[in-house]
Amino acid sequence: TLPPESRLLANLNPEQLAAVTLPAEPALILAGAGSGKTRVLTTRIAWLLQTGQVSPGGLMAVTFTNKAAKEMLTRLSAMLPFNVRGMWIGTFHGLCNRFLRAHWKQANLPQTFQILDAGDAVSAVKRVIRAMQLDEERFVPKQVAWFIAGAKEDGLRPKDIEVRDAQTQKLAEIYQAYEDQCQREGVVDFAELMLRSFELLRDDPHLRAHYRARFRHILVDEFQDTNRLQYAWLKMFAAMPGERDALGEAATGAIFAVGDDDQSIYAFRGARVGNMADFEREYRVRHRIKLERNYRSFGNILDSANALIEHNTGRLGKNLRTEAGPGEPVRVHESPSDFAEAQWVLEQAEQLHRAGTARAEIAILYRSNAQSRVIETALFNAGVPYRVHGGLRFFERAEIKHALAYLRLIENPDDDTSFLRVVNFPARGIGARSVEQLQDIARATGRSLHQSVGALGGAAGTKMANFVRLVAGLREDTRGRTLREIIEHVLDTSGLIDFYRAEREGQDRVENLEELVNAAESFVTVEGFGREVVALPVDETAGLLPDADTGEIISPLAAFLTHAALEAGDNQAQAGQDAIQMMTVHAAKGLEFDAVFITGLEESLFPHENAAAEPDGLEEERRLMYVAITRARQRLHLSFSQTRMLHGQTRYHARSRFLAELPEGALKWLTPKEGGFSGGFSGGFGGGFGSGSGFGGGSGRGSSYGGGSSGFARSAAPAPAPAPLPPRREPDPSGQGLRKGLRVFHNKFGEGVVLALEGSGADARAQVSFGRHGTKWLALSVAKLTPIDD
Ligand code: ATP
Ligand code: MG
Repeated sequence: TLPPESRLLANLNPEQLAAVTLPAEPALILAGAGSGKTRVLTTRIAWLLQTGQVSPGGLMAVTFTNKAAKEMLTRLSAMLPFNVRGMWIGTFHGLCNRFLRAHWKQANLPQTFQILDAGDAVSAVKRVIRAMQLDEERFVPKQVAWFIAGAKEDGLRPKDIEVRDAQTQKLAEIYQAYEDQCQREGVVDFAELMLRSFELLRDDPHLRAHYRARFRHILVDEFQDTNRLQYAWLKMFAAMPGERDALGEAATGAIFAVGDDDQSIYAFRGARVGNMADFEREYRVRHRIKLERNYRSFGNILDSANALIEHNTGRLGKNLRTEAGPGEPVRVHESPSDFAEAQWVLEQAEQLHRAGTARAEIAILYRSNAQSRVIETALFNAGVPYRVHGGLRFFERAEIKHALAYLRLIENPDDDTSFLRVVNFPARGIGARSVEQLQDIARATGRSLHQSVGALGGAAGTKMANFVRLVAGLREDTRGRTLREIIEHVLDTSGLIDFYRAEREGQDRVENLEELVNAAESFVTVEGFGREVVALPVDETAGLLPDADTGEIISPLAAFLTHAALEAGDNQAQAGQDAIQMMTVHAAKGLEFDAVFITGLEESLFPHENAAAEPDGLEEERRLMYVAITRARQRLHLSFSQTRMLHGQTRYHARSRFLAELPEGALKWLTPKEGGFSGGFSGGFGGGFGSGSGFGGGSGRGSSYGGGSSGFARSAAPAPAPAPLPPRREPDPSGQGLRKGLRVFHNKFGEGVVLALEGSGADARAQVSFGRHGTKWLALSVAKLTPIDD
């Protein structure tokens, strides 16, 4: 048999092999969809590790989505004999979070800082705007939040904003006030995660030198979609040729960048394809490798992708060929209405499924989230399991956010966003006026709402004080308890679950809350010693890192809350179930499926109507379409509809121009190519497909859709299978003479008793009960525990 190293490399073509085995120098792999870029990147990591060129702690890999990070870790652990879970592999945000957790003090953050997701950030901005007594029509919270995120992504703090007029002046002031508020509350938004860690590295040459010496290899997938700040952040970890550092001249950082200019689809969020050219120049890249063989798709699919993208200008120029045959033609279908389109997709998908395609290998793609509802309804009514990625996010549902707010307050009572969310939910007779009063006091004294309650008099003061006591009680009662116990206790004691039980339409919401307990359950698993311990989620980016001084591993609750904020996209309940995959084209990047449906191929939908406003908009839409087409391995279906309900109105759209840009020879029209249903407009669907006889009345389940589709993805799903138990470990993995029941001393937490030990080597951890300080998990590589003999 081959030695493992060559087995690793055996399935690569010569260009891929060259890329995988490049020396430790800056490199750019520029290649089209499905040519094996991600595979090359993953294999290179495995090769570097296996040949001993780098240790697991000595490399960092950045992926674009949590899903991709997970997949990479899964693939790596299959290729490698050792534990990959401590490795720095994750999204930009995940890695920044991890970095800031380790350096929270230097970053001027509380140790338990919380992350604001996009929705939280908007409501935080809204509070600022109200506090400043500005007009919300002129300063629309969502737009202001967008402005702030954009500024941060350009590396700009409020003082750096160029003030051109009164409007920008005010925006800069709001930005400043928002920053103050976040700092006061100990919360950071997504852009802040990046900017804060960038600034910390920029301003601390020793820290920078430390990380530059540590990460010998930095690998970046989907490099074409990095924005300015992300590229600047990468530069902190990788010195440019000739750059000097705290330690003298630094070795040039080996960034291994992988990308495809034709798949750049985040320009609207500040991504810069130009980063590729800058990178080549600034790092004097000597290794540029093209991959031209596509391993993913059959010929007709690839021909369609190639022909489409030809219509763009200014491409870096790549060709893709396949050695697979032409395969099935690309099927094109026209429907009279979005409702009919959904039915058609459903029938086709089920037909494929009956013929042997797993549902998880079927993807339904759409340009905008709003398009998913109709398709969801069709799938739901037919009882077909499906999973929606992004959009209707489990962790974004109101009842979940309420529960999370209580949990966040347990972690950090000064989190004003959470305080406001639940101070009067369920209702406790606290009026908006009293809340405003409290906010005034807090503002005047520069304190958090929680800290200001004492200063509020009267009946309102008493009620608020009761709320503060409730939260304090929750914290007391859940100390040292398992995550599951904590959540169950909070749901019961806060009154949340009773509130929804009493609600007429509350069943979905109760189920969602119960699902939260399940989500927590799949986050921790039961192992040895008869108690629950932290099991690192596959997604290492949630970052269970020991504190650098005390060795304390951040609490499971804190880790869970971070996970909820970062990964607000994944409904764990569906994990493991064979379900049709639904997502926007953006969310499909990097993924592949046996069969793909691209729906809503209509002008103003795809290409999107906003695209016409910008000169480069149309080309970006075309790249999106290119991404969509190239997700398919065997079967591709393109569909469009003559009419569509959008924002409560029936719309009539022409078919997408992209259809005309595809090669006729690769297509098969299932409906007449020219004006199939054109006669149907007047009479045809007026009765049949009108304002939705099929939705409301027909199914008899219409009412449950009212509050958003939150319920249905889940209700068809069985309870998740219990996570497999990790193997039992040695009783004294630490090698430090620790054992269960031993009394120990820690220089910050004092005396304690060892409750459990697990992991080994650098991973070894101990659970210790410290009396007043509660029960903690400590990383033994950091924490100093001295046994006490008695
Ligand atoms: P995208 O641009 O969409 O992200 P990519 O360039 O990252 O695509 P991969 O996802 O790495 O492409 O690979 C596409 C498919 O081709 C995968 O299923 C991968 O396993 C397969 N593949 C890549 N290289 C080879 C090879 N040398 N032999 C066989 N299969 C391969
Ligand atoms: Mg890829």
